[in-house]
Amino acid sequence: MMLSGNRIIPDEEVHISPLDRGYYFGDGIYEVFCIYDGALFEKEAHFQRLLRSASEVRIALPYPTERLEELLGELIAANGMDTGLVYVQITRCAAPRSHPFPLNAEAVVTGWCTEYQRPLDQLENGITAVLLEDIRWHRCDIKTLNLLPNVLLKQEAMDRGANDAIFHRGDTVTESSSSNVMMVKDGVLWTHPADNHILHGITRAVTLKLAGQLQIPVKEQFYTVDDLRAADEIFLTSTGAELTPVVKLDGQPVGAGVPGPIIRRLQQAYVARLPGSSSR
Ligand code: PMP
Repeated sequence: MMLSGNRIIPDEEVHISPLDRGYYFGDGIYEVFCIYDGALFEKEAHFQRLLRSASEVRIALPYPTERLEELLGELIAANGMDTGLVYVQITRCAAPRSHPFPLNAEAVVTGWCTEYQRPLDQLENGITAVLLEDIRWHRCDIKTLNLLPNVLLKQEAMDRGANDAIFHRGDTVTESSSSNVMMVKDGVLWTHPADNHILHGITRAVTLKLAGQLQIPVKEQFYTVDDLRAADEIFLTSTGAELTPVVKLDGQPVGAGVPGPIIRRLQQAYVARLPGSSSR
């Protein structure tokens, strides 16, 4: 069952027009939620970000987020989902192809959920990454459908035998293909400021809050490729990947080549916040 407009309907009954602007312009936004124990995790932050993305690209949601929340609850129940992901997409409208916004545009809402298990192996053992130039536009803070640069860079990283790409814009490290990036140097946690060059990750915000509680000093400041290469620890944060250690960068071990002590403390604190954490 899927979300289409204002209803939850069987997958085969969802019809998207080839004239949907999301389809030919990427003119739309999206949001991804984790479901733990059948409930949306950090839902207020995700709804707020969805509203912000919509407002930044001037798309009017067809109904309030309270109604969307109700519909997502129905979607999760209809699919009997316990642990998984929910994807929601809102495009400007379907209309003949022409760049200006059509008059009386009616936004098109679709959504689905899928089984997703926590990536336990990667959380435990870490992943590898390569540094690649960030070729995206200057509004990476909006969660738009325009993910072609992210897709190309992720594929390039994988073609080079790594799990993911860490992007740098010139000398400055920004984020990853679908996660934020953090590094630890001399006990201090560094991450790119939440400006227009990164997505303002919800897991990033949670991690920074946890770091505060654990009295780990934080610098939301620019740092360079050389700083990253000299880091004691590196990790990625995202809804699905949670806090994933990076143990190799461009083929070289990060720190001791195994997940470090600060990420371990943060991972523990993060898991403790998940619904049903006592059984995880
Ligand atoms: N950066 C990018 C480019 C992303 O696609 C994502 C995943 N949505 C993130 C960061 C992490 O955001 P969040 O923690 O809200 O999932």
